[in-house]
Amino acid sequence: MSERAGAFSAVRASEPSGTLRLLILGGTGEARELAAAVPAGHVVTSLAGRVSAPRLPVGEVRIGGFGGPEGLAAWLVCERIDAVVDATHPFAHRISASARQATADLELPLLALHRPGWTPGPGDDWRRVPSVDAAAAALPELGDRVLLTTGRQSLAAFAGNSGWFLIRTVDPPSPPLPSRHEIVLDRGPYTVDGETALMREHRINVLVTKDSGGPLTAAKLAAARELGLPVLMVDRPAPPDGVPTVATVGEAVDWLRDNAGV
Ligand code: NAP
Repeated sequence: MSERAGAFSAVRASEPSGTLRLLILGGTGEARELAAAVPAGHVVTSLAGRVSAPRLPVGEVRIGGFGGPEGLAAWLVCERIDAVVDATHPFAHRISASARQATADLELPLLALHRPGWTPGPGDDWRRVPSVDAAAAALPELGDRVLLTTGRQSLAAFAGNSGWFLIRTVDPPSPPLPSRHEIVLDRGPYTVDGETALMREHRINVLVTKDSGGPLTAAKLAAARELGLPVLMVDRPAPPDGVPTVATVGEAVDWLRDNAGV
């Protein structure tokens, strides 16, 4: 056991034995579902604070960054957390790396709950790209009226593109943005009929999306298929090595019961 983990264990052992304390790193529907599904213990969900009116889970919520892996480790010690579930969005790779490092330092159980990515079916015309920058570079070949759904933080990559963009985000985006655009503020769940109507109304000829996975925002893919449109699909960043990962809330609850006694 590392010196730091040993000291942390001693602090916990000196506390009166009580309920297990679980941190859920959130910002996703799965994190909210998990907070409601954990059968026992004290649950704290952490949100980054990016969205002005986030959907809140049940239980205790804290908002804002921790200050990197060291800040997270200090917070885990201070709050006497016994286990961590990284239920952040699959593209939120920095907080996932922080969680891995902090829990490794303290020798705390860590589970990743990440929904699977989408897979193309018959009739889909997807081009996979490794990054948002690669999507921006590939775009001019595919279309010039773009439905762009990669999120507020990724829009600068498209600023130099001469196409017309329908940019959909939860909160208003900040510049730099593509010079020709319209913004639609919305968040899922979406319907195939709604997505098809939106694409028709704006004469969209290409969809750009991240491979977020999950049902809440998948309707745009069915709509693109129906309309015969190409999709530029940005692949997920690689997850941190060696973290056990499950795809569903039920599996996460089972893992917590078996590995953290929650
Ligand atoms: P990121 O690049 O991995 O994180 C950047 C920094 O934000 C982290 O280093 C951390 O700051 C802070 N942070 C992120 N998630 C946090 C959390 N749950 N609790 C406390 N601090 C957090 O993440 P991101 O892509 O900016 O996403 C931010 C949040 O939005 C995530 O929680 C994610 O679940 C949610 N989200 C992201 C996307 C997406 O496409 N990226 C989509 C939907 C929802 P410190 O280093 O100071 O601790």
